[in-house]
Amino acid sequence: AEKLRGTIVKALSGYYYVKPEHAAPDAATIQCRARGIFKKRGISPLVGDEVTFSLTENGEGTVEEILPRSSELIRPPVANIDLAILVFSVTEPALNLQLLDKFLVHIEHAGIPAVLCLSKRDLEKEGMETEEAQAAAASVTRIYRPLGYEVYGTSSRLGEGIEPLQERLAGHLAVFAGQSGVGKSSLLNAIVPGLTLETNEISNRLGRGKHTTRHVELIEIGGGLVADTPGFSQLDFAELGIEDLAYGFVEMRELSPDCKFRGCTHVHEPGCAVLAALEAGKLEQSRYDHYILFLAELKEKKRRY
Ligand code: GDP
Ligand code: ZN
Repeated sequence: AEKLRGTIVKALSGYYYVKPEHAAPDAATIQCRARGIFKKRGISPLVGDEVTFSLTENGEGTVEEILPRSSELIRPPVANIDLAILVFSVTEPALNLQLLDKFLVHIEHAGIPAVLCLSKRDLEKEGMETEEAQAAAASVTRIYRPLGYEVYGTSSRLGEGIEPLQERLAGHLAVFAGQSGVGKSSLLNAIVPGLTLETNEISNRLGRGKHTTRHVELIEIGGGLVADTPGFSQLDFAELGIEDLAYGFVEMRELSPDCKFRGCTHVHEPGCAVLAALEAGKLEQSRYDHYILFLAELKEKKRRY
């Protein structure tokens, strides 16, 4: 049979739903089974996978081959994500730069480009933010733009700042991530026409957590795809090696080759380029402090296991 190309946009009960290449945005997906050989090899197709498939007589299809993945996330289980939108609110919950850096370490390791989004900006407009909170919001732009991260501001409530994000998503396979309660679901609903994800109020009323049993599905938006479920909201450094940590900090990654010793941990080593840059005021102190914190966390983990 003829081999066609497409993207898996949904996986459910052993079926993979494939959107054929060049299909119209509203075209139906092809319901496919995976070839038995995948199971034998312990490979399973993932949502986001680029695949070749063939059509069977009953109008269904068979996934023949998975094309090489550019990235692979575990939570949500999606392959080939090429854009992560890290969402942070300024208040409710309060901005937490340590958590932001932790997200960035993970996303840098996953090899996925990230942009930052400050949510609930209506609260600032309405004078609901303390001066302290506003200063924290301003510091995000000051610290992260020079590192190469774009910073967006949105209000799902007022529908503001939504269009620039929609445009940014075009042509990408994107996922939203961030702490619970920062407004990811609300933002997705604002960005994807017709999407009606549960937001916090509703799930609280029903007395159950949201996104617990949902299956991830990719939704077409402006020639791109977005995962219809917020991504990882909790992070664990379990899989990360101590020597890998600095890689997650773009500015440290750049400087590491200039350190005198290979495997420099940038803590006390002589001839450390990171420490020199820090002393010269060229690095952001809060970022370095978080690096030291994460390093201690990692060492503690390794000691315990
Ligand atoms: P998630 O857990 O990150 O998916 O967050 P939700 O989208 O469920 O939102 C958490 C809470 O923040 C809910 O009470 C929302 O009503 C509220 N929220 C979401 N977006 C906004 C916004 O733009 N402005 C304000 N003021 N509140 C928002
Ligand atoms: Zn060093």
